[in-house]
Amino acid sequence: KVTIVGSINLDTTLYLQRVPEPGETIRIQKLITSGGGKGANQAIAAQRLGAKVAFIGAVGTDDVGQQMLNLLRAAAINVDGIAQLADHTTGQAFITVDEQGENRIMINAGANTAFTPEQVRQSQPLITTSDFLIAQFETELKSTLEAFSLAKKAGVKTILNPAPAIASIPPELLALTDIIVPNETEAEILTGVHVYDEKSAQLAATKLADSGVSIVVITLGKAGVYYQTASQQGLIPALRVKAIDTTAAGDTFIGALASVLQPDFSNLTEALLFGNQASAITVQRLGAQDAIPFKDEITPD
Ligand code: ADP
Repeated sequence: KVTIVGSINLDTTLYLQRVPEPGETIRIQKLITSGGGKGANQAIAAQRLGAKVAFIGAVGTDDVGQQMLNLLRAAAINVDGIAQLADHTTGQAFITVDEQGENRIMINAGANTAFTPEQVRQSQPLITTSDFLIAQFETELKSTLEAFSLAKKAGVKTILNPAPAIASIPPELLALTDIIVPNETEAEILTGVHVYDEKSAQLAATKLADSGVSIVVITLGKAGVYYQTASQQGLIPALRVKAIDTTAAGDTFIGALASVLQPDFSNLTEALLFGNQASAITVQRLGAQDAIPFKDEITPD
């Protein structure tokens, strides 16, 4: 069982020729709405790839919140830990994509940053009955800290996806983290090492491991994934596929990893390979949650 403490957004993507100049009005070509937020994406991924999933987070009491709750419920995710906060809007991301494929993202964090350690404590049973607890940085740090400390006390393994990137992670959070999974950019911002290949990933991973995390996993886009534990390290190459939209690749990878990893980490390399296989499917499809594959789409090798 996997529990996610994280963000829930409604994503609205506007496809347009170009973004308007100040004062200018333009027509857009296409509008697509979908469920989003790193937390919700990872929850959907873990569930589709075989885990039982519970979610801890918050939405507003607005229509969008109801819509997002329904979406997660329909995906068979336990939503008992999702608070509905009356004084807050549900998180939303507004994304423009121009003809060059360039995107711009504006986020209303809303309820995502309003849920408190107290609300996390109310969901303690969801955490303590899990194998893994996963968090990102789209919610308040103090709530993540509370969740990780409840997990640790119960022997539940913790996975931190330090996204969006921040320059330094509080040592007390790192001390509660079993596995950290940054992408190249996040690893670089955290360590100051320009990460782009196996050697640079190794350098960055060593720095992160020095801060007390036992397993470091750095996703390297089409190069695959670099991992480092106390006893082993290496690069697991990505599958060679034609990527058309890499949105949610990292979220798929994390959900996949958590859904197959044994709590004693004994099958780490197989779990990372599974993560590569799952996210290679995501990058070949348009969209975020829509692109995330189901377990039976992944062919054993
Ligand atoms: P993020 O989406 O957080 O930036 P990455 O770009 O590192 O994360 O992608 C996560 C994982 O998705 C990679 O480790 C890899 O397994 C897979 N992936 C990403 N891009 C490609 C690609 N072009 N071809 C194959 N696999 C990919």
